[in-house]
Amino acid sequence: MHTLIRTALAVLALTAVGCGDSGISPLTSPPTVVDALTPVPPPPVAKACARNTAPEASGMPSEARIYSWIEGLVKLGYRRTGTPAGYAASAYVKCQFESLGLEDVHYETSTSWSWEATKSSVKVNGETIDAFPSAFSFVTPDKPSLFTTGPDGLTAEIVDINLGTPIEQQLKGVKGKVILFDLKFLLPTAGLAPLMEFLWDPDLSLVDPSILIANPYVTTYREVLDAAMAAGAVGFVGVLADYFDSNRYYNEFYRRSSVTIPGYWVTSKEGTRLRALLQAKGGPSTANLVMEGSRKAVEARSVVGFLPGKSKETIMVQSHHDAVFDGAVEDGSGTAAVLAQAQYYAAQPAASRERTMMFATFDTHFTGYQAHIAFADKYVVKKATPYTLVANVTLEHIAKQAVKGSNGELVITKLPELRGIMNNFGVELKAALIGAVVEHDLRRTAVLSVNALCSVVGIPTDASFMCLNGVPTASLIAGPLYLYDAADTLDKVDRAQLVPVTETFIDIIDKIDDTPTDRIGTPLPSLGPALNL
Ligand SMILES: [Zn+2]
Repeated sequence: MHTLIRTALAVLALTAVGCGDSGISPLTSPPTVVDALTPVPPPPVAKACARNTAPEASGMPSEARIYSWIEGLVKLGYRRTGTPAGYAASAYVKCQFESLGLEDVHYETSTSWSWEATKSSVKVNGETIDAFPSAFSFVTPDKPSLFTTGPDGLTAEIVDINLGTPIEQQLKGVKGKVILFDLKFLLPTAGLAPLMEFLWDPDLSLVDPSILIANPYVTTYREVLDAAMAAGAVGFVGVLADYFDSNRYYNEFYRRSSVTIPGYWVTSKEGTRLRALLQAKGGPSTANLVMEGSRKAVEARSVVGFLPGKSKETIMVQSHHDAVFDGAVEDGSGTAAVLAQAQYYAAQPAASRERTMMFATFDTHFTGYQAHIAFADKYVVKKATPYTLVANVTLEHIAKQAVKGSNGELVITKLPELRGIMNNFGVELKAALIGAVVEHDLRRTAVLSVNALCSVVGIPTDASFMCLNGVPTASLIAGPLYLYDAADTLDKVDRAQLVPVTETFIDIIDKIDDTPTDRIGTPLPSLGPALNL
């Protein structure tokens, strides 16, 4: 449990990024530094979309209808916060909410970061290395900045510190040098076992080695990089030791660590080739790193909309619409699942609901969770709205299972990726949750108790800031290996699960609405100022 808390903390520390557009108006030339750092103003807020009265847009949506929302989001491009595709994703969700008949549909805005490398290359002993720039590296802490290694790049000795542990020993003598290290993924599915309250796996499909495959978001990144920077390293090349055969790994922005040195990812195979180059040289080896780009402050736009009930006590249904590549699973699938709930409940009369419903898709999941923090502060801590949030349901990642093939290739199976419903609900709702999972045959689903995590560090999902701030939460999550990769494309979505997941959570939300407020959650008292974590 201790390790899990530490890893959950590590996850929470992540923040993400966006690859921005240039920010330079074509009419201004030559661009100055100030121009380049000025974010592109966000587009004007579009007029409300008309109500869609077609039969397929009312009541329980079909699989094709839910899938079409994922396609609609993927079509927009890489939905990175603060980029045109990022804003298009906000506008897309807003329009869907309006066309479904939600009320008071609007953006909640906050300031986040957009990071982009416009130039990037690595050479070692004169040989070109196939490397992908590490997102959010080479930044100036807390400030927008342009970064550049200069036209000739940064040339320095490269040293191999392997895993980077034990850390002090490995980092002796890295001052002024580029480090080469293996990035390790720390949390395999089996690591969640201590939290498990229930597992629906009637075919015993989990008795396979995939439960030992660690997901790509809890890693040694911060531990190694914080220590390496303190020791004076000037750059890094990270070998994706536990990853499939891809270097398109787009790490989140770990907001507690500003990585001020340029960094790159290479595949496991390329790491082996690189190490052979070092060995062949015999004496000290030289790396030449080129990186140029910017990190700009940008407006983030989360989307919210409401369906009134008999009271202002509010059940919130949430996901996030930002992504780093296509984001079909992460989180086109979650956003579509929120839209599916919205369509179903919009067709129910307001008088059938004890409580108001709120639907939300967040921005900034990859760029630092600024939108989530601002929202929690406004709606929960300061209670600056008419709504009292009494429960949160977060939907993410309706995913096909991924395993690593014998040659390192990504293999997609026919099974759903093992998923968890992390919750700190009271006993009646936990029972209802388990009942709904079985009733709708949501196979390979574990119900996980996160009461303790929510009290201390939060959970490694989009719902973290809700549960940290005392809102009883149920958060559906899966961690397939391709989640942060260009490989997260439409074919990875588990289409057959879209309707069962929707039906399961309709049952759960109905039961929440029937449950007295003081029995919805069993949160432990918060141990600290949650918003400052
Ligand atoms: Zn997600």
